[in-house]
Amino acid sequence: MKNNEAISYDDILLIPQYSDIKSRTEIDVTTDLGNGLILKSPLLSSPMDTVTGGAMAMAMTLVGGAGVIHRYNTIIEQQRHIKRAIDNVSEFDHVGAAIGVTGNYIDRATAAFDAGATFICIDVAHGHHILVKSALHSLRAIFGNDFHIMAGNVATLEGINDLSDWGANSVRCNIGGGSICSTRIQTGHGLPGLQTILDCAQTDREVAIVADGGIKNSGDIVKALACGADAVMCGSLLAGTTEAPGEVQRDTDGSAWKSYRGMASKEAQTEWRGKYASFEGVSTRVPYQGKVKNILEDLDRGIRSGFSYSGARSLEELHVKAEYVRQTSSGLSESHTHILTRKW
Ligand code: IMP
Repeated sequence: MKNNEAISYDDILLIPQYSDIKSRTEIDVTTDLGNGLILKSPLLSSPMDTVTGGAMAMAMTLVGGAGVIHRYNTIIEQQRHIKRAIDNVSEFDHVGAAIGVTGNYIDRATAAFDAGATFICIDVAHGHHILVKSALHSLRAIFGNDFHIMAGNVATLEGINDLSDWGANSVRCNIGGGSICSTRIQTGHGLPGLQTILDCAQTDREVAIVADGGIKNSGDIVKALACGADAVMCGSLLAGTTEAPGEVQRDTDGSAWKSYRGMASKEAQTEWRGKYASFEGVSTRVPYQGKVKNILEDLDRGIRSGFSYSGARSLEELHVKAEYVRQTSSGLSESHTHILTRKW
């Protein structure tokens, strides 16, 4: 039985380092996830029905990131989202499509490519699984090796290594860390999210790490990248925007919000499958935040500033230079803006 201590985002801080970077424009946040998936920004949006449809995927390309269109729809509907996302985008932009590992997933992958998706994401909760192995083998046998497959999720080095050996180019890392996720409570399984990144970064395979779930701000993004991630996937940070699927709702006091739900929540399962099995997520609401462009631009500014504090002009430099320390609970409360809670 393993009983190692494991850490997550709030447990660490990156150590500020000497920097000769005079402007954030000197920093290049381009990331190469392998097999043709090169992104000018390391930001991905989650394949969830309250996060990524066509509008979100298109908006993600505008900042150089990519959206992964969710799979909780018919094949035709997913194609429609993909087509909407790729209208007016350049040949360097990317749009992903999520698929499962049972049923008509090969048809879905074929249809996604036909519609213009540039990469496929095998999207299951427990990715270190025999069904993911057979799906990866089938996809490679049918479509060849010449396109990017993202797969996941995994929590361990063994997991990322196996998925890479089975044919994945990038792997979503983190089990149970999503803001709407109850997997760790329902099942007792998971690993603190940043520990998974640190562990998976030990891989000797040519595979990219996507830090997925639990990202609360641009500081967490920089921490994930510094600890070895090549890109970061966000759900809750983007769910309150105009481009996320779903209507803006208003309370009688005028406050505006949108729904955000885990894809394994009772509500999502009931809507998409007509029933629910084990549920490992919740359905909630997030404040409405207007255009996603504003959020993405704020995140980009925070990420570039973060690179600068580590004296890094690129992701490669950040991976080499970054150092972290553990922080105590008083360190964490000092890290948050704390004047509002001060007792004068
Ligand atoms: P967030 O950015 O912290 O909100 O987390 C989003 C991530 O949570 C997604 O990219 C998925 O990996 C994960 N996720 C989505 N739905 C569920 C669920 O119902 N249960 C557990 N994890 C989920």
